[in-house]
Amino acid sequence: GRDIIVVGAGQAGFQAAASLREAGFDGSLTIIGDEPVAPYQRPPLSKAYLAGKATAGTLALRPASFYADHRITLRLGEQAALIDRPVQQLELTSGERLCYDHLILATGARNRSLPVPGADLAGVLQLRTLADAEDVQRYLAGVESVVVVGAGFIGLEFAAVAAARGIAVTVVEFADRVMSRAVSRPTSAFFRAAHEAAGIRFAFGVGVGRITGADGHVTAVETTDGRAFAADLVLVGIGVVPNVELAAEAGLAVADGILVDQALLTSDPSISAIGDCATFPNSFAGNAPTRIESVQNAVDQARCVAARLTGRAASYAALPWFWSDQGGWKLQIAGLANPHDLTVTRGDPAQGAFSVFCYRQDRLVGVESVNRPADHMIARRLIAERLPLVPDQAADLALDLRALIR
Ligand code: FAD
Repeated sequence: GRDIIVVGAGQAGFQAAASLREAGFDGSLTIIGDEPVAPYQRPPLSKAYLAGKATAGTLALRPASFYADHRITLRLGEQAALIDRPVQQLELTSGERLCYDHLILATGARNRSLPVPGADLAGVLQLRTLADAEDVQRYLAGVESVVVVGAGFIGLEFAAVAAARGIAVTVVEFADRVMSRAVSRPTSAFFRAAHEAAGIRFAFGVGVGRITGADGHVTAVETTDGRAFAADLVLVGIGVVPNVELAAEAGLAVADGILVDQALLTSDPSISAIGDCATFPNSFAGNAPTRIESVQNAVDQARCVAARLTGRAASYAALPWFWSDQGGWKLQIAGLANPHDLTVTRGDPAQGAFSVFCYRQDRLVGVESVNRPADHMIARRLIAERLPLVPDQAADLALDLRALIR
């Protein structure tokens, strides 16, 4: 039998192991995870969990029995320290060494920290792990005002949950609009207005100068334009850094993420990399090296590697898609909309349900849907199968989009 080791017990690592067994892999299968808990879903941490509608138990991707039933050895609270490639061994921080025939790196990413004075004060928090979410949950109970640093998905999801609890929320964002890296201007504009209507205040075009406190606890955030915003909790959501150190120190090629080819193999044919930590040639971006942080990407890349390791050669070409729940709005994104040179809006943002179709050189590259889930499902097919839809048609509500995918 062959031995496969997966480093990282997150979405991608879990899926790789599960899909390997599903595909009939019969060798030994071990997942090394440095968090103390079995693989769980991260998306609800900034949504249902914080809103009190999910618990640590409901977040688990599978019950504990699943791993025993599928002969998957879960080693939690253990960290991979180095890869000894010449002898194909993985060394843990405990010093123990494990042999592999194939190694799957699914080390994910960690939050970027805010490099300003005061960032170490109590009450300055992040959101990546269940442990982080438990901290945030605990702090939220007694809080009157929060400052969110970064108007990305996680910052806005958190802001919406906090505002719904009656907490005064200010979001500080360096760019001039929300989710600027990920969504088109019309979608940004809609969410800004929606959050403002819910009482959230924005400060755009400014950075954080420093965070001030009293008795070791945060009291305010000072922005680079000299303003101060009171805060008894600060949530920092300014992006992530991929966990590439293990790979880099083993001499594997790294560029932002761990570099892999179309088959998700690193520069060592015995090592694959998947999920948030991997930079791959993206067929929806002209094969440009891309790193994607999403559940879809983690799951589909895991399945692709499992297929290859069980003898069905596969190259990764899945369509990227993503979702974010903010207040009462469900944003769903199909494709990679950026860059685009034309947007067409279908439906009426004033009614709270619309889709933005993004075109690059006359080709549909991405669709952002807000409370229009049917558009999203159709858009996935239109983009993945490169089916034609001209801008006039996209805007025409009298045209049934379903007819195009039959
Ligand atoms: P991770 O889930 O980060 O797992 C990697 C694991 O490896 C971690 O547990 C890490 O601690 C561990 N690890 C790292 N190095 C080592 C080592 N040396 N030894 C042992 N273990 C190690 N995506 C969406 O599509 N939709 C959403 O709505 C959405 N919401 C999100 C909300 C939040 C709050 C967060 C944090 C993420 C959200 N995401 C969302 C992103 C999504 O969760 C990630 O893209 C996905 O979890 C990536 O999976 P992964 O397995 O690559 O990495």
